[in-house]
Amino acid sequence: MGRLDAEGLWASMNEAPIRDHCGLFGIFGHPEAVDLTYLGLYAQQHRGQESAGICSSDGGEIVRHHGMGLVTDVFDPRRLSELRNPVAIGHVRYSTTGLSNPVNIQPVLVTYSRGQVAVGHNGNLTNAGELRATYEESGHIFQTTSDTEIIVHLLADPSHLHSENALATVLRRIEGAYSLLFLFPDKIVAARDPCGVRPLCIGRMDNGAYVVVSETCALDVVDAEYLHDVEPGQMVTIDEHGPRSEYFVEPQEVRPAHCIFELVYFADPSSDVFGGNVHMAREHMGRRLAQEAPADGDVVIAVPNCARCAAIGYSKESGIPFERGFTTSHYAGRSFIMPDQKARDLTVKMKLNVIKESVRDKRLVVVEDSIVRGTTTRGKMGALRRAGASEIHLRVASPPIRHPCFYGIDFPTPGELIATGRTVEQIRDYLEVDSLTYLSLDGMLSCGTRPPDHYCAACFCGDYPIPIDRAGGKLLLERQRLRTPE
Ligand code: SF4
Repeated sequence: MGRLDAEGLWASMNEAPIRDHCGLFGIFGHPEAVDLTYLGLYAQQHRGQESAGICSSDGGEIVRHHGMGLVTDVFDPRRLSELRNPVAIGHVRYSTTGLSNPVNIQPVLVTYSRGQVAVGHNGNLTNAGELRATYEESGHIFQTTSDTEIIVHLLADPSHLHSENALATVLRRIEGAYSLLFLFPDKIVAARDPCGVRPLCIGRMDNGAYVVVSETCALDVVDAEYLHDVEPGQMVTIDEHGPRSEYFVEPQEVRPAHCIFELVYFADPSSDVFGGNVHMAREHMGRRLAQEAPADGDVVIAVPNCARCAAIGYSKESGIPFERGFTTSHYAGRSFIMPDQKARDLTVKMKLNVIKESVRDKRLVVVEDSIVRGTTTRGKMGALRRAGASEIHLRVASPPIRHPCFYGIDFPTPGELIATGRTVEQIRDYLEVDSLTYLSLDGMLSCGTRPPDHYCAACFCGDYPIPIDRAGGKLLLERQRLRTPE
């Protein structure tokens, strides 16, 4: 077994992983609501590793616990268990708008003229810059550089406060991708944008408590039964009378555009999102890839760790045996919280090993879920070659990524994407593999459980289902705050 060598290390040094966005958990009506929120966030740690927060209520007052880092670093379970509040919401975050800064930790908790409210957000508001500028011009002061704070300014706006359904009015003002959890002292409200870009669903526990989560893996960890998704354009209020649903937009405004990248890469394989199991969708993508792009190989291996499901599908469809080509160490530390790039890269090296005995003198069919910058993939292909692989046929279970995401995923700029402005042959040449084929757009979209036109695939095809501000982006609000040009 050989470690990823120096060239692979240096390649990896240049490419941070695509960052996940955020994960939400909410619970109403359980004496251990805070403890269970901790577990629910832990189960969704893959959706955000930068910060975590929990807000809970005893029915009269909301309190907040939060910090930078992983769920296990931020919270002291013993102290949390002393909180017997029956209602709570929690959030794990990686910044998609708003710098990595403690002031941007969610849930955001504020007090306004109607009392306290806490908000957790997964997604990205596409009209955040415009709304913020309007409020700032009328004298509002913002404390964070996160788009989520705009939502509480909207809520506190007198013109909304006095409308019949203030929250529905606020939701109609915001645009973009949003799965939201609001905690008021006596209730939780869950809401999802009219395209349903990010997942959000509701479950119930044996004691009758209701749970709201981004992914069903968080229902499993607290033994809750899945009930239904919060539908696009819907808000669900949960209080002492139970849940009640309403749509905040007209039926014709609901246009499903679920993020296909949740199925390709982000969501946990054990989860069900958008009505289907993630592992099965990825396996289906692998099968489809084998049909579209057969290869003569001795073994199929997966680039760790996300591509394993697709590689299994490719192996089953092609009849080529699945083999483990890499191992990953669980004990090498957490690279993303290391203080500098050098330490992070050393950790990457320590984490990834090639199993030489599996690949030496073999014709490899290597399955990757997606390629972003390409530097990490190139490093791994080089490591396989140096471990003795005789041929490398790289098969990617999604199309080339050529466009940025404006809906909550932190892709690099188009100029940094390997597929922008390059042909597949040029990418193959850069990656130094014998052949390279991507899954087709139609092929990928046919592998979900929803109709193909119910998914967003803008980062692959450039067709954005929600109008975007191309000049905006992750640091739009920082630029606006500092009044700096792009
Ligand atoms: S652009 Fe890509 S990553 Fe962003 S929501 Fe659409 S499919 Fe998902």
